Amino acid sequence: MVLLKGAEVSAKIQKEVERQLEAMDGYVPVLAVVRVGERPDDLSYEKSALSRMKKFGMKGISFAFPEDVSMEKFRKEFARINEAPEIDGILLLRPLPAQLDEKEIERMICPEKDLDGICPENIAKVFAGDETGFAPCTAEAVIRLLKAYEIPMEGKRAVIVGRSMVVGRPLSMLLLKENATVTVCHTRTKNLKEICRQGEILVAAAGRARMLGGEFVGEGAVAVDVGINVDENGTLCGDMDLDSVGQKASMATPVPGGIGAVTTAVLAEHLVRAAAGRSKRNVV
Ligand code: NDP
Repeated sequence: MVLLKGAEVSAKIQKEVERQLEAMDGYVPVLAVVRVGERPDDLSYEKSALSRMKKFGMKGISFAFPEDVSMEKFRKEFARINEAPEIDGILLLRPLPAQLDEKEIERMICPEKDLDGICPENIAKVFAGDETGFAPCTAEAVIRLLKAYEIPMEGKRAVIVGRSMVVGRPLSMLLLKENATVTVCHTRTKNLKEICRQGEILVAAAGRARMLGGEFVGEGAVAVDVGINVDENGTLCGDMDLDSVGQKASMATPVPGGIGAVTTAVLAEHLVRAAAGRSKRNVV
């Protein structure tokens, strides 16, 4: 079984980002990470996003709000970040606490700064197969990893476990654009095991620690694990049990070291593209 390593894909993306940065005459793009509260997974994503921007030669700024921030205050502050000319792109860490209207914030975010594809305009573009917007970074990271390892998608049966707007749904559209035949599974899916076994490409994005073992994997399938979970022993793990999946799959991504590393590289690439787009329109 071949391990599909995120670091190798990320290094390729880094080279491309560096090339694009060189063409920007010393301009350093700026990412705003907007976080509400102190959830450990948000803190960990923020840390890796900020360190990735630095590694790629760009700048990240964290805007942190208390867990109980009011909608009125958050709306005002978010609008200020959204309009700030020195900020090229925004990563909003979600889900937001209940008192904040996430849908309203999604509609507010400027599409050109919406690096993680959360606003209606960018989502519509993903669904239309229009590459001029920003797709959610994790969904795009799956495609980038498959392409980097030259894994054909055209005509393949792809099965995704998970239908969230962050991963499952946008990924189904991106795979469809690559001419895969896509099945999306969720908690109401019947015969999950049988359906998963039919996937020549199987993607797990359910957020359930080691939920999928080898019995869910077809012989020779490519297994992509998007899940980032902490098991009962406090160990970071994916949605797949790699030891067991590896008995059946021809290729599989590890967790950590798989899709997560590619996601922040895609975020960096989106940032440089956002900054280049703004400079072309002479937005200062
Ligand atoms: P959500 O909780 O929003 O969605 C989970 C999806 O999985 C839902 O559609 C749910 O179905 C489905 N699901 C859950 N349990 C089962 C089950 N037993 N059988 C079938 N379907 C199931 O999670 P996200 O999409 O936000 O994230 C998924 C995972 O990916 C998480 O582990 C998360 O941490 C990780 N992640 C990783 C990133 C990365 O960069 N690598 C970035 C973002 C997320 P239903 O709709 O019916 O409830």
